[in-house]
Amino acid sequence: TSESLSASASTDSDRTPVRVDSQDSQLSDTETVTEGQPRWPRQNSLSMREWDIPYDELKMGEMIGTGRFGTVFRGQWHGDVAVKVLDVNYLKDEKTLEQFKNEVSTFRKTRHENLVLFMGACMKPPKLAIVTSLSKGNTLYTHIHLRKDKFNMNKTTNVAQQISQGMGYLHAKGIIHKDLKSKNIFVENGKVVITDFGLFSVTKLCFGNRKSDSLGIPPGWLCYLSPEIMRSLHAHQPHDEELPFSKASDVYAFGTVWYELLCGEWPFKGQPPEAVIWQVGKGMKQPLANLQASRDVKDILMLCWSYDPSARPDFIRLLNSLDKLPKKRLARSPSHPIHLSRSAES
Ligand code: ADP
Ligand code: MG
Repeated sequence: TSESLSASASTDSDRTPVRVDSQDSQLSDTETVTEGQPRWPRQNSLSMREWDIPYDELKMGEMIGTGRFGTVFRGQWHGDVAVKVLDVNYLKDEKTLEQFKNEVSTFRKTRHENLVLFMGACMKPPKLAIVTSLSKGNTLYTHIHLRKDKFNMNKTTNVAQQISQGMGYLHAKGIIHKDLKSKNIFVENGKVVITDFGLFSVTKLCFGNRKSDSLGIPPGWLCYLSPEIMRSLHAHQPHDEELPFSKASDVYAFGTVWYELLCGEWPFKGQPPEAVIWQVGKGMKQPLANLQASRDVKDILMLCWSYDPSARPDFIRLLNSLDKLPKKRLARSPSHPIHLSRSAES
C-alpha cells in the first residue's frame, strides 16, 4: 500500500507544474506563435519544456485505433497513458506546426474532472504526439451504437449533466471543442471524460487531401455539424476557409449527443450526406415524433438544434434545464410513483 501511496503522490507532483506555469504562460504562449522561427527554440521557457515529452521517454504499446488525423496507442509514461501520434503528412508546413503547438498550449490550461488529463506532448517533428491519461472505460459511441446499452432517464440526464459541466468549463476558458461527439466522450465507472477538445484545426489539411472522395466527410460526423457549418461546407472548399465553429456550434453538437442518449441512434439515420447537408442547411431537424420523452426533454433538444446560433442555450442554462428534469422517470411506466423508486435506491 505504501507503494500505491507513493504512486499517487508522484501523480500529484506531476500535475503541479500547471500552477507554476501560470506565471510565465504568457511568455511561452507568445513564443509558440512567434513567426519566422524555423526551429523550436533551444532556450524555450521552462514551462514549455515541462510539457515537452521526449519521444524516447514514451514506451509505446499496442495500437488502440485510428482517427481522422492520427493513431492512438496505449503507452507507458509514469503509468498508463494514451498517445495520439499525429500523421505528420498533415503537418508538413510550418504554419500547421505552429497551430499544433498553439493547440497544445490550449490543452495545458484545462483542469476539470470531466476533461481528459493532458500530460504532455512530443513536439519535435517528425514525431508529434499528444499524451493524455488513458481512459479505461468505453466511449458513449461504444455504449450506444455498438453495445446498444440502454441508459435509463436518470443515467441519461446524469451523463448529459457531466458533459455540460466539462463543456461549460471549456467555454469559460474560451476553448471551443469543435469535435464534440459520442466517440470523444468516455464513461468510466459512471464518470464522464471528454477528449479531443480544440484539436480540430489540425485536421483541416485532411480535407484538402481527401476532397475527391464524396466530400471527404467521415461517417457519423455530419449529424454534429450545425446549420451554419453545413452551409459553409456547402459553399466553400473546406480547406480554404475556417469553418465557423463557435460555442453555439458546440451546443448544437451536444444536442446531437443528447439525441443519441435518448434514442440510441444518430439523427438522420441512413440518409446520404447530401440529403443531411441540404436539410440541416435549410433549417430542418430530425423529427421527434417517435421519441417518447417529456416536453422538457424535447425542448432541450430543439433549443440546442436551433437554426439561429444565438437562440441556442449556453451550457450554464443547459445545466439548469437538466437539473430541473424529474429525477426518476421509468421509461415504461411514467406513472410509477417517484417516492417508491427513491426508497428502493436508498
Ligand atoms: P475518434 O475520436 O474519431 O474515434 P481518435 O483518433 O480520437 O478517433 O481515437 C482513436 C481510438 O483511440 C478510438 O478507439 C478512441 O476511443 C481511442 N482513444 C482515444 N483517446 C483515448 C484515451 N485517452 N484513452 C483510451 N482510448 C482512447
Ligand atoms: Mg477522438
